Amino acid sequence: MRRNQFGSNGPQVSVIGQGTWYIDHGDRATAVAALRRGIDLGMTHIDTAEMYGDAELVVAEAIAGRRDEVFLVSKVLPSNASRRGTITACDRSLKRLKTDRLDCYLLHWRGSVPLAETVAAFDELLSAGKIRSWGVSNFDTDDLDEMLEAAGGGSIACNQVLYHLQERAIEHAVLPWCEQHGVAVVAYSPFGHNDFPNPRSKPGAVLQAIAAAHRASPRQVALSFLTRRPSLLAIPKAAMPDHAAENAAAGDLTLTDNEIAALDQAFPRGPRPRGLPML
Ligand code: NAP
Repeated sequence: MRRNQFGSNGPQVSVIGQGTWYIDHGDRATAVAALRRGIDLGMTHIDTAEMYGDAELVVAEAIAGRRDEVFLVSKVLPSNASRRGTITACDRSLKRLKTDRLDCYLLHWRGSVPLAETVAAFDELLSAGKIRSWGVSNFDTDDLDEMLEAAGGGSIACNQVLYHLQERAIEHAVLPWCEQHGVAVVAYSPFGHNDFPNPRSKPGAVLQAIAAAHRASPRQVALSFLTRRPSLLAIPKAAMPDHAAENAAAGDLTLTDNEIAALDQAFPRGPRPRGLPML
């Protein structure tokens, strides 16, 4: 499993991690087995959120007895992101996750609470040892500029954003901004949530051919493409153990420059949209 540094001061983290949105909707034991299989195979970066229903409870079960192996991330809802609200939300998440600390705590998206308030809460949580770092999610460059102003350089560990083969908007400005400021970029919904390229489509066929050349699957090729730079990590969600195993193997797949160029052509990034796309 390749690892990339998580922000300018952070640890090395598995480039392929595990998302957990909707993981509480199917069979609980299977979901726990999938997360555990993923951890066994090196996908130790686990992403959850207070918003994801009972997902934090599923994660708690999966990481029981092996907390130290995992880089654990959760998120505060913008509606809870006041100075007091953030601390209370974090305490709730820690309780649900049955742990005493998060490796990274994110503001899920920009809301109406002034950023300085959320930053003050993050600082308090850092001092108390309840979080090891903090970051943001769904932040466009103007929000990132404001956050940098509010928090100072070196403090934003990551920006978690929508990024998959058919949605490459972050490459226009967000990715360059993050690389310039040492902020890790975490690709969410790397399979397009439920919209992975059809193998019968022209771009899907390109993906298929590259996969065949590596005896890999199209999804593994997609994950490798999305983590092709040292700033990038991806967090596919898999509630099925076999899916988790397939995704983990992408952490050892490296594409050639020609293959990256072919994917770049097959799935063009398109013009820069007015706002940053998000789910
Ligand atoms: P995704 O990871 O793009 O796709 C998940 C879907 O792909 C599930 O239906 C899953 O099926 C399937 N899948 C996974 N691995 C597979 C494989 N090897 N073969 C076939 N199917 C496979 O979607 P996502 O859940 O939207 O995004 C991933 C994570 O990003 C979320 O879970 C969440 O943690 C995070 N996220 C963050 C935000 C944000 O605003 N910050 C927004 C959206 C998502 P099974 O589950 O049946 O295995």
